[in-house]
Amino acid sequence: MRGDPVSAPSFPDPQPTAPPVSPLDPAWLAQMANAMFGALPAAPGPAYDPRDALAAPAVAVTYPTVRPAMPEPPAASSTPQFYFVDAAVPPPGDRTGAHPAFDVHAVRRDFPTLQERINGHPVAWLDNAATTHKPQAVIDRLAQFYAHENSNIHRAAHALAGRATDAYEGARETVRRFINAPAVEEVVFVRGATEAINLVAKSWGVRHVGKDDEIVVSHLEHHANIVPWQQLAAATGARLRVIPVDDSGQLRLDEFARLLNRRTKLVAVTQVSNALGTVAPVAQIAAMARRAGARVLVDAAQSVSHMRVDVQALDADFLVFSGHKVFAPTGIGVLWGKREVLEDMPPWQGGGNMIADVTFEHTEFQGIPNRFEAGTGNIADAAGLGAALDYVNRIGIENIALHEHALLDYGMRELGAIRGVRLIGTAQDKASVMSFVLAGYETFEVGAALDRQGIAVRTGHHCAQPILHRFGLEATVRPSLAFYNTRDEIDRLVRVVRDLAARRRSA
Ligand code: PMP
Repeated sequence: MRGDPVSAPSFPDPQPTAPPVSPLDPAWLAQMANAMFGALPAAPGPAYDPRDALAAPAVAVTYPTVRPAMPEPPAASSTPQFYFVDAAVPPPGDRTGAHPAFDVHAVRRDFPTLQERINGHPVAWLDNAATTHKPQAVIDRLAQFYAHENSNIHRAAHALAGRATDAYEGARETVRRFINAPAVEEVVFVRGATEAINLVAKSWGVRHVGKDDEIVVSHLEHHANIVPWQQLAAATGARLRVIPVDDSGQLRLDEFARLLNRRTKLVAVTQVSNALGTVAPVAQIAAMARRAGARVLVDAAQSVSHMRVDVQALDADFLVFSGHKVFAPTGIGVLWGKREVLEDMPPWQGGGNMIADVTFEHTEFQGIPNRFEAGTGNIADAAGLGAALDYVNRIGIENIALHEHALLDYGMRELGAIRGVRLIGTAQDKASVMSFVLAGYETFEVGAALDRQGIAVRTGHHCAQPILHRFGLEATVRPSLAFYNTRDEIDRLVRVVRDLAARRRSA
């Protein structure tokens, strides 16, 4: 027997025999193209000027490179300044929306990895759904922490403990502002989205989900938002139910409405699908779930780097994301939860940092968020996450969304026009991801051909096997965008795919 598989009673995959997605609808293409570019020029199009697509404001100002000089270490102080961001921490991000025009070429200079050459070509990083590269500001923040602030946090009278605590708690406040959480105590640091979902399943889930209760996920979910719920269902006798998608990869809200009932305890959905790029209507889903008396978890792993995520506007109960997908280091991520929901959850791990008082007979736990942060946390990378979010704020998430949307529209149109390409995920509301398969080729063959030209894409099942099965597939080629990508990189991608397609036809 292989491993220790979890088998939970679950409803069969919805629409298991659904027909494969139809070729990209030309009406949809025209609509998308018109929305972003106005009437399409006849091919070959004019040279790309991002400002055309981005409807730049009247005065275009080059965005300054975000690479602050390494600040001096703060002056020695005998009194630790817990919970106050001192001079060692970069200034907080700007949420006013007053941003200069976006200049992708200036922004790219902030990312050392984007200057690399692969197989003799400048790297074209189109694997952003897997992880993102780090701006120099984040790299500098880590070096600064280890050079000038390194200490364990919270419980020491010395100055370095004060600096490290300020760095960690300052980053928590930066996260709070970034997702517009009402209170900083609602922000829990974890390793990433996976750990955050497991925390909710093993703490909230064990307390609130029982036999014959139902947990609703969508067909779009990453395995990280399926397996912990399967494990919970197996342990408690609950059932997993699945919101189906239509042929474009958008969630069927009519079917979702039918799934909700008084046994529904939790609805856990992704905001952006990592395999298809579908943007799910999570605010609407949360409102529907709430009316049925269910709690809501939003997996924002693929959304925080592409669009404004506001937990108060979404009105979910939990939201999770990973730092490394939003230009921060690996090993740090966030669970946000509503105060009253978190306060009603037992700790899921025991140890130092999460306790108020311990005897051999009894332990008193800390309040939130510390009760969920047992042991020494990832202090430096939390500071790195704060720096990454500051960086994103300085560029402006709306500028990012506009630039990426124009690129996505262009890439979908160009890839979709290649004979033999089948685009997977053609929902009207999409972000970042351009999954496809190419007739006559295994996905890894396409990935290898792209790599030879320095173009990095992911191929495989993207840890989202159920949604690929829905389209009759085991794997796709998945280019995925971030704000530092250019139209030129998409042209390079399209050229390779077009050459492969032509070679197969003439073979
Ligand atoms: N959810 C989604 C939608 C994802 O794309 C990913 C990562 N691919 C995860 C969850 C898990 O993130 P991590 O591996 O960083 O915990």
